[in-house]
Amino acid sequence: MTYTLNLPSNYKSNLPVFGNFDVIVVGGGPAGISAAVTAAECGRSVLIIERRAFCGGAAVSGMSGTICGLYLTVDEPHGTVPEQLIFGFAERFRRTLYTEGGLTNPQVYGKTWVATHDCATYKRVSNDLLRGAGVTMLLHTQMIDVITDENTLNGVVLHTKSGFTSAYAKRIIDCSGDADVVYRMGLKTNKGNNGVIQNPTMIFKMGNVDMKTYLDYWGHDTISPPKVVDMLYAHDELLRKKVWLFPTVNEGELLVNATKITGFDGRALDVTDPVDHTEAEQFSMIQARAFFKFMVDNVPGCENSYFIDYAPEVGVRQTRSIDGVARLMNDDVVNTRKFKDGIARTSWPIELHYGAKPKTEWLINEYYEVPFHTLVPKVGDNIIVAGRCLSSEHEALASCRVTAQCFEYGRAAALAADLSINENLPFQQIDGVQMAELMEKTEHRQ
Ligand SMILES: Cc1cc2nc3c(=O)[nH]c(=O)nc-3n(C[C@H](O)[C@H](O)[C@H](O)COP(=O)(O)OP(=O)(O)OC[C@H]3O[C@@H](n4cnc5c(N)ncnc54)[C@H](O)[C@@H]3O)c2cc1C
Repeated sequence: MTYTLNLPSNYKSNLPVFGNFDVIVVGGGPAGISAAVTAAECGRSVLIIERRAFCGGAAVSGMSGTICGLYLTVDEPHGTVPEQLIFGFAERFRRTLYTEGGLTNPQVYGKTWVATHDCATYKRVSNDLLRGAGVTMLLHTQMIDVITDENTLNGVVLHTKSGFTSAYAKRIIDCSGDADVVYRMGLKTNKGNNGVIQNPTMIFKMGNVDMKTYLDYWGHDTISPPKVVDMLYAHDELLRKKVWLFPTVNEGELLVNATKITGFDGRALDVTDPVDHTEAEQFSMIQARAFFKFMVDNVPGCENSYFIDYAPEVGVRQTRSIDGVARLMNDDVVNTRKFKDGIARTSWPIELHYGAKPKTEWLINEYYEVPFHTLVPKVGDNIIVAGRCLSSEHEALASCRVTAQCFEYGRAAALAADLSINENLPFQQIDGVQMAELMEKTEHRQ
């Protein structure tokens, strides 16, 4: 199916103006929440635009389930105390969620740990932080176009229930996950491995699990044990053969990350196309119900379980990545490279969702750093990105996209926007080493 980006050229000049801001943040996922709060706490007037009814991004709308990327990966996590690797806004959000009863203690995931969050608390904490910082929020509002002068971005066109409006800002942070702003500016973006992206997953929750019996059988690693993997291979209707299940903060409840979503004909989907995205949602329900039946029929402790709900939408891991001044390379990740302009540490494995079994490549006792200029498009003024659409090779993205790091990319983009306004400096000319120092200096003040 083909789509057009071109409306009559004069339509933007006649739009009403919702407001003029220092900073606009497009997208209220982990990167957007952090970017908006940080920019507001720098004293900037900030507008955040989110197309859904709440902020939280894939962590809530896709029920992605856990905060990954907080801890160092080790050889043997059982019986070990996790070493936290990343702080800043990621730690502030973690601490707030935990204090509010919306986060578990660290749980073993292979050779590292994750903490499982409660989506209702995630939504509320996001809302409280944004409102507390004085951010102007527009929910149920989609950014659909950009207002530019050549490659200079001045504002965005918004689609609302009541029609179109516009908003202007000195700097715009694209936290849409899909690089929507950059794409609408007509700048170069890349998609996965020559257009093939990681498969989406529909996550669901099940209740009334006899947790003791379940854990005695499954074990305390959230990744499926070999005996379950063997059973999954005997079920042709289930496309994914390695799965992760997380006990949540609620008694008897499991969050289930176990589906691999393709088209009905088995093809890889491109969810930036609504036809493919629709098919993903439709196939998701079939796959999730089939896996739930597998659990009830085969896994001790789940016999009397019930299906609580699907995530509000299929979880999308990857779409467009920008063409950045710097690019995180696969080689940087596997060789745990550090950079003078590194803004976030990452020990999360390459967790590539493609094929029957997600591929996991661990970075034992090591971490790499993500350079600042992966957030900055090569071309374009007043625009920076944060979150999973940063500039990265395909496999590298399968590691650096998790939420603890996305929070920190958001913080870096906001600090850079503040600096860029103060010093009247294009993002491309910001000194990455200065950014790394600024991130470190402010890391523990959150
Ligand atoms: C199935 C699945 C499981 C995962 N599991 C984990 C996990 O266990 N732990 C972990 O840490 N990470 C996990 N991840 C990864 C993590 O959830 C994402 O990488 C992370 O949420 C990315 O954050 P983001 O802020 O860049 O983008 P997103 O979370 O995608 O947020 C983007 C936001 O922008 C909004 N938006 C998009 N376009 C527009 C527009 N044009 N106008 C207005 N609003 C717009 C969207 O509605 C959304 O709220 C998982 C991802 C998936 C898909």
